[in-house]
Parts: sequence; structure tokens; C-alpha cells
Amino acid sequence: MTHRYNQPLGGNSMPRTGGPATMMRLPSADTAAGLDACFVGIPMDIGTSNRPGTRLGPRQIRDESRMIRPYNIATGVSPFDHMQVADIGDVPINLFDLKKSVEIIADFYRDILDHSAIPLTLGGDHTLTWPILRAMKEKFGPVALVHVDAHSDTNDEMFGEKEAHGCPFRRAWEEDCLLNDKVFQIGLRGTGYGASDFDWGRRQGWTCIQAEDCWHKSLSPLMAEIRDKIGQSPVYLSFDIDSLDPGFAPGTGTVEVGGLTTLQGLEIIRGISGLNLVGADLVEVSPPYDPTGNTAVIAANYLYEMLCAAIRR
Ligand code: MN
Ligand code: MN
Repeated sequence: MTHRYNQPLGGNSMPRTGGPATMMRLPSADTAAGLDACFVGIPMDIGTSNRPGTRLGPRQIRDESRMIRPYNIATGVSPFDHMQVADIGDVPINLFDLKKSVEIIADFYRDILDHSAIPLTLGGDHTLTWPILRAMKEKFGPVALVHVDAHSDTNDEMFGEKEAHGCPFRRAWEEDCLLNDKVFQIGLRGTGYGASDFDWGRRQGWTCIQAEDCWHKSLSPLMAEIRDKIGQSPVYLSFDIDSLDPGFAPGTGTVEVGGLTTLQGLEIIRGISGLNLVGADLVEVSPPYDPTGNTAVIAANYLYEMLCAAIRR
């Protein structure tokens, strides 16, 4: 049987533990030419401030994606019947120069967007979202943002540097990459330096939802409100795996207690479907702290859900 669209290699054609080491065992491609969406890795941890290891994240996410089947039973979506999707490999960053790496990432995403493909990024530390948003702005103008994270990542600088995994959304704000009335941060929590730590974004017009306001409830009503506010604006989704409770996802660098559940993460990602999603990332998976592989399994499934959410209705 031939398909118009590429399909992941099935589990009855080759054992799940073998076959191509791509995301979901999809075909690989050199560029995004001809693709509707692409998976791309950024093997980077040189922007990390605490536990390192996210340079190993993309490979581990790909490995743990091997069990994901093509049909989404919960949502009824079959993304590979509607979209041409491939794994276009990794961004060749410079592990000894973060500033150069930021430029390399921006150039790489300009090329993806020139092909009108939706990039779904396997991270990598959160620094990488800043150059992606810069490329997004050049293509679409300022975008709406759904940012799921324990941390606001709006530091002006870290150790005097403007590029770091705690700064990407401050940089994006500075360069007018964001529609400030359509920025939503979800899951913020943890200890801080003062009572107003999460207020910087609020002063810019952002909606900053702390984890405690998410406890013990479904996030689907919140996502309905967010969909209404975003409307038809282009929207980018940035999902830091440390937004989840460390009981679910311990394999990350900057762990905070009292986080979101895996169910709430699914509600958020499924809640963006139907919007004009222009790109998404899943960042901060650190395999050395993920001995069971479960953090990477969750990340891989969330990236698949992002692909399902990207289908144009
Ligand atoms: Mn982050
Ligand atoms: Mn974080």
C-alpha cells in the first residue's frame, strides 16, 4: 500500500527497538523543502545554569518516541494522513560559543520558515527559543505565545550575559517578537528572590498563571479562554518539561516542586489545536537525570501531540 504522505515505520514492519533513529521512525530529510511540518533537534546545554545534560535530549527523545503509533485515539487526529512530515536532523550549533549558536539557530529556522514548514523542536536548553522567535517575527511579525514552564525565563541577564536559558523571553520581548496581550505563561512556581519575581511579564501585559492556580483542576477551561484571546493570530508554543512535577519528569536541570501533571500538559497542548500554530518546542530534557527514560517518553508524546495540534482545521 502506498501513501501520498510519509508514514512512520510501523511496529509490525520492524521491531520498535530497531529501524531509523529518527523521531517516531519517520523518514529523514536534509531540509524542510516539501514538508508541512518537521521535527528538528538542537543538542545544546551551554546555556544551562544548573544541572547540565540537555545536549543529549534530542537523541533520547527520538529514541523514546519509538513506541508512538500514528493515530491519536483521544482526539481522532491522524496527522500523517494530512501532513507531509519528516525529521530533518539537528542544528549544527557551536558548543563553545553560545552567541554564535544563537545566530546558527536563527539562520536554520529562517530556512525552515522559507519552506513554509512548521518546526517542532526537540531541545536542548531553553536559550534556543529566543533565536526561533526572532526568525518567527521576521516571517510572521510579532506572534502570540503559550509558554509552559516552572520559570518565567525573563531575566535581563545571567552572569552579565544576555544569552542564557533564563533569558529567552526577555530577549524576544526586547525585539518586539511577541504580541504582549497574547502571551500566556503557565506553571510558574518555586522559590524566588522577591515577592514580585513573576510580575515583570504582567507589567508587559502578559498573563502569568502560577502553578498553584492550576492545582487540583482541569486546565481545559483556561485553554478555552486562551484560544478566544489568541483568535487567528500566529501562535508559538514553548513547553519546558520542568513545568511538570518532578514526580513525572525528573530528567531536567532546574527542578521545582509542585508542578503540573502529565494530564494537564496534554490539556494545554490539545487546547491549542485549531489555532494558527506556527511552531512549537519541547525543551530542557536532560537524559543523565532521566534513568527510566520516562521524561523523554513524555516529551516525545507531547511533541507528537503538538504535531496533531498543528493540523489546520
Ligand atoms: Mn525554561
Ligand atoms: Mn524552567
